[in-house]
Amino acid sequence: MSATVIDACQGLLPREKVPARAGLTDLLAKASSRDAYGVLELALGGELSGRTAVVSSFGAESAVLLHMVAAIDPTTPILFLNTGKLFGETLRYRDRLQQELGLCDVRSLSPGLDTRQTLDADGSLWARDADACCGLRKVAPLAAALKPFAAQITGRKRFQTNARAGMQPVEWHEGRFRFNPLWQWREDELVAYAAAHRLPAHPLVADGYPSIGCQPCTRRVGKGENYRAGRWAGLDKDECGIHVGTDGDGI
Ligand code: SF4
Repeated sequence: MSATVIDACQGLLPREKVPARAGLTDLLAKASSRDAYGVLELALGGELSGRTAVVSSFGAESAVLLHMVAAIDPTTPILFLNTGKLFGETLRYRDRLQQELGLCDVRSLSPGLDTRQTLDADGSLWARDADACCGLRKVAPLAAALKPFAAQITGRKRFQTNARAGMQPVEWHEGRFRFNPLWQWREDELVAYAAAHRLPAHPLVADGYPSIGCQPCTRRVGKGENYRAGRWAGLDKDECGIHVGTDGDGI
């Protein structure tokens, strides 16, 4: 007799549907020999079919991953953190990509009004405590939205930061699988893919923003600077916290 567990969003699930960390070794072996599209098929098919969400910022490089996801299954849930501090250009770019790629299930996530009023009544938390602000506007809403899913997909790449240099195509993170299909991609490969598929660019890229987050925490990047130098400039911070760390196994 198979055991069952209660999932807050999906009701009773057979035990075999619950993500099991033991499956990581097999998934990693399969993913390591696949290209980005193949890793996505792994993340969106088989036992994970219908149980995986994409996390996207609709930032400077997001179109590449979203284009591949749309080709495999445009009904895949796309989780988008609308912090209330984003550039208007990002919101319009989200709408444009959603329309042009035919994405059917883009979910915008924000903290509730009560929580915002309690923790950041005047909206200036970012200036006083950026980690707390990211926790309120990004980490907590994403953790809640991911609860019904067995896996998430990110657009992270190894070249982006030192902390990401050891990234693997599949990891185990906070109770679910985390797939990183673009883990080995270089910047020039992203540009080439976007050009080959005529993907629209985020409008701020041409204005000097190669990496785009919230407006108060993103500045233009000067010539010769690292492309993420404009993120949280002046702070000892290069991650918002939603993707930090793995749960062991050196992955
Ligand atoms: S990036 Fe800045 S404004 Fe956005 S959630 Fe983090 S601290 Fe707040």
